Amino acid sequence: MANQPNDSTNLMEKLVALCKRRGFIFQSSEIYGGLNGCWDYGPLGVELKRNVKAAWWDTIVRQRDDMVGLDCSIIMNPRVWEASGHVSNFNDPLVDCKGCKNRYRADQIFMVAAREGDNVVLSSCVEAGDGDMARQTAAASANSKTRRRLTQKADRLEWAVVRADQLPDGETALCPACGGELTPARKFNMMFKTYVGAMEDSSALAYLRPETAQGIFANFKNVVDTSRIRLPFGIAQIGKAFRNEINPRNFTFRSREFEQMEIEFFCHPSEADKWYAYWRDARFQWYVGLGLQSDKLRLREHDAAELAHYARGCADVEYAFPFGVAELEGVANRTDFDLTQHAEFSGRDLSYYDDQTKERFVPHVIEPSAGADRATLAFLCEAYCEDEAPDDSGKMQPRTVMKFHPRLAPIKVAVFPLVKKDTMPERAAEIHHACRRAGLASFYDEKGAVGRRYRRQDEVGTPWCVTVDGQTLTDGTVTVRDRDSLAQERIAADKVVAYVQAKLAAR
Ligand code: ATP
Repeated sequence: MANQPNDSTNLMEKLVALCKRRGFIFQSSEIYGGLNGCWDYGPLGVELKRNVKAAWWDTIVRQRDDMVGLDCSIIMNPRVWEASGHVSNFNDPLVDCKGCKNRYRADQIFMVAAREGDNVVLSSCVEAGDGDMARQTAAASANSKTRRRLTQKADRLEWAVVRADQLPDGETALCPACGGELTPARKFNMMFKTYVGAMEDSSALAYLRPETAQGIFANFKNVVDTSRIRLPFGIAQIGKAFRNEINPRNFTFRSREFEQMEIEFFCHPSEADKWYAYWRDARFQWYVGLGLQSDKLRLREHDAAELAHYARGCADVEYAFPFGVAELEGVANRTDFDLTQHAEFSGRDLSYYDDQTKERFVPHVIEPSAGADRATLAFLCEAYCEDEAPDDSGKMQPRTVMKFHPRLAPIKVAVFPLVKKDTMPERAAEIHHACRRAGLASFYDEKGAVGRRYRRQDEVGTPWCVTVDGQTLTDGTVTVRDRDSLAQERIAADKVVAYVQAKLAAR
């Protein structure tokens, strides 16, 4: 039975090591010691991430009549970011440790206490994504005696978990690393600044976009005026975004440079609730369809207190990563906030005229906002499995296998000659080239024992391996071995392309 390692820290370490070893993801500028929060995708990683983005673009833009695409510049007129609220509000609460000088986001520091009456069993300060995670982290990092007491007294304990930026006046949060005092929280704007042109003064100040969405709003009128699309319709964009995160962490999950896949779906105000529910469910199903089928995927509706003042609804698609449950995508009903703001700041009329109902109004917007890197990381985590497979002598050996959905797998088919003689390499190369000509990412390998070659492909998630052997030379058939079931079947060599295409279409 395939399984994922139970120990989640261990799983993350193994995954990061595999990503480096097999060329999925490298630390950025590693030969210079790296740069915190920046990552590079290697030869296999770039294929995987491109497949994720292509799957999104295909579902969202190509397969629909009510969507169009855009590709906007990263640097825009800085007024865009005043209108959107990013200049004044895109802040994280920053705290420093007065002792070790470590820097944290105050909303990710939690004071955790467990009491039995007046008796304090545990008191600790931890860094975590949310209160539940904070409680687990505090319990897990306590010494063995305290952990035993926590288990023994579990039913009688009262827990208090308070975020550092919500502590009562006079109370100070402590550093999770050294226990030192933390400074009061101050606002830190996460936009990267740059200068446009030769002058480095405030008149030339510009920003690297912290999200792709605003380029879509700024082009709303261009799209309406130049295409024949009518409301309700959406505009989609995939592109880089930059945030000067205080604490980049968890591999690519929180990076300073990343890619977003965003939709702004414009509709009549009376239909906004309906479209919000539609997109929330459709976006959840997209991940399910690409293999995040386990109970690790969930949809969390925000309660009223969590909503931005202009939003009517918001839900997060969350995934249980090995480091905790965290957001993959947010779907928000943003009302007419963005178009109204841009109309006011630009002085342009961004209303929409419906020539059938003769009504003029500012459309409401549903925004499903996903991260290409976070989605890729979730697909990597979900794919990682350890099980057993037979070696060349038929003995079962442990194997690591990446069970990617075939549509996402960086290599779709690997072709091997069993041995390097008797025209087997030539026959295998023919199949390899036929696959390539058909647009299938194919890999040719003739080095080492065939069992080892299977193992190398399992580790990078190749769904099908084709072997040319002695029988091929007599009856023109090859074996196709399935990555997940390990089943082998013989098919005609000239049917390999059709076989793989049919399998892909069936998923
Ligand atoms: P978080 O609360 O995790 O910081 P957010 O709510 O600020 O995320 P949004 O502004 O809604 O995120 O951005 C939309 C999507 O962009 C997120 O769901 C995520 O997939 C992606 N994203 C945002 N920030 C980052 C980041 N620093 N690194 C990688 N992906 C990110």
